Amino acid sequence: DLHPISRALLSVSDKTGLIELGKALAARGVELLSTGGSAKTLRDAGLEVRDVADVTGFPEMMDGRVKTLHPGVHGGLLALRDNDEHVAAMEEHNIDAIDLLVVNLYPFEAALARGAEYDEMIENIDIGGPAMIRAAAKNHSFVNVVVDVEDYDALLAELDANDGATSFAFRQTLAQTAYARTGAYDAAVSTWMAGAIGNAAPRRKAVAGTLAQTLRYGENPHQAAAFYTDGSNRAGVATATQHQGKELSYNNINDTDAAFELVSEFSAEDGPAVAIIKHANPCGVAKGATLAEAYKSAFECDQTSAFGGIIALNGELDAETAEAITGIFTEVVIAPSVTDEAKAMFAAKKNLRLLTTGGLADPMAVAETIRQVSGGYLMQNKDNGHITAADLKVVTKVAPTDEQLADLLFAWKVAKHVKSNAIVYVKDGATVGVGAGQMSRVDSALIAATKAQRMADALGLPESLAKGAAVASDAFFPFADGLLEAAAAGASCVIQPGGSMRDDEVIAAADEAGLAMVFTGMRHFRH
Ligand code: 5GP
Repeated sequence: DLHPISRALLSVSDKTGLIELGKALAARGVELLSTGGSAKTLRDAGLEVRDVADVTGFPEMMDGRVKTLHPGVHGGLLALRDNDEHVAAMEEHNIDAIDLLVVNLYPFEAALARGAEYDEMIENIDIGGPAMIRAAAKNHSFVNVVVDVEDYDALLAELDANDGATSFAFRQTLAQTAYARTGAYDAAVSTWMAGAIGNAAPRRKAVAGTLAQTLRYGENPHQAAAFYTDGSNRAGVATATQHQGKELSYNNINDTDAAFELVSEFSAEDGPAVAIIKHANPCGVAKGATLAEAYKSAFECDQTSAFGGIIALNGELDAETAEAITGIFTEVVIAPSVTDEAKAMFAAKKNLRLLTTGGLADPMAVAETIRQVSGGYLMQNKDNGHITAADLKVVTKVAPTDEQLADLLFAWKVAKHVKSNAIVYVKDGATVGVGAGQMSRVDSALIAATKAQRMADALGLPESLAKGAAVASDAFFPFADGLLEAAAAGASCVIQPGGSMRDDEVIAAADEAGLAMVFTGMRHFRH
């Protein structure tokens, strides 16, 4: 799949590095084609260049709006070199194959940044450039496309490494970069136009996705909103089938996603598991011999908060579980599948939305998350961190028992899905207290303990459910105080990342309180 480069078309607005690139290509015997300004720059540097106007038989016209939009150029970019008909068409119409396209676009973004007027913005929308980039990228089996000055060196290095040729993998990476560029370019145009029109409603926002639903409103009624699918086809709320109930709202979708992602941490081998979510945080998560049992335990964790919650199951929703769920008002139930009896049971609950996904999400999948900040975006890999018992380091004198270890790992999985600071108390495979989203870890520990006490009160038990519980902390305890709070509430063992400057103090406090503590070496911030 190594293809040599014999002809290049260079058409760039930003001329940085153009002469050096032209010289390096010419030195390798590559024929250079170019458009007006680029050709002049190259010629002035003493290079031999053929004008695109010579290829098309048309002068560049209409202020440069039409330069390269011609079969002489696009045929040269798009023709499949191993297809007899394509090759015959090239011969018949005198089309020369173009093996390398170097384009950077009219500086639309720069015009935007300097606050250019409407007409100037319009003139800065490149038409022929994106058309060529998309054509060359499509034909990356044969054609190289470079859209960024930064990539000139990599191209030359690739040519050096392969005796004037490039590999398929290299061209594929170039093509992927190229489509990212044209996508971002049109997104910038669309976003600018939305502002110019003064239309605050995101009717169709320029995002890499397909509009799935225009939502009634966003997080609040005065916010317009829409829901997009990203084409990845992952099991989850975006691809689920809705069997009944009203349209999902913005908050429903967000919370249902949180619920399903959390419950998907428990595979079929882990046994039935249920998560109940409120405001994107779990108010109860439990395993059980059956889903109905798991639901009951999850519900008992925080009966007050569970009202109007979102429920996610890691297995088929059956009649027994459905009946238990209908006991209180629930917004959404999401599960891999549902039995006919369970479906029938829900039919009377007109407002209850029932979704099936066909399977669980893969918590270890590689994906990206995007968050907007003023003036920009934050991109990161999704938190697919995963630990097993083998990764744990016992740091206290006492080691956890097998039962404690199971609860610690369960608590750890839940804590990953709780907003930081997260403290999660677990007993016998069920959360008994969740402290979420506090600015201090001590407060989260206190809230979780309070909830464990309330749960005991609600169930008429003599002592707090924090007694003997396993505790997970999503990040290390910076001081001993948070851990001491958990110890005071009666916790018996702790799982946390470790890595604090004061780990020694924290370990000493755990030893003094007779706790077993393990370090994961991995943290799960979720801000
Ligand atoms: P030059 O400075 O070489 O005259 O122009 C280079 C710029 O023209 C590049 O940014 C390239 O994307 C753009 N370009 C190339 N062909 C066309 C075309 O047919 N129409 C438009 N609008 N721009 C083009």
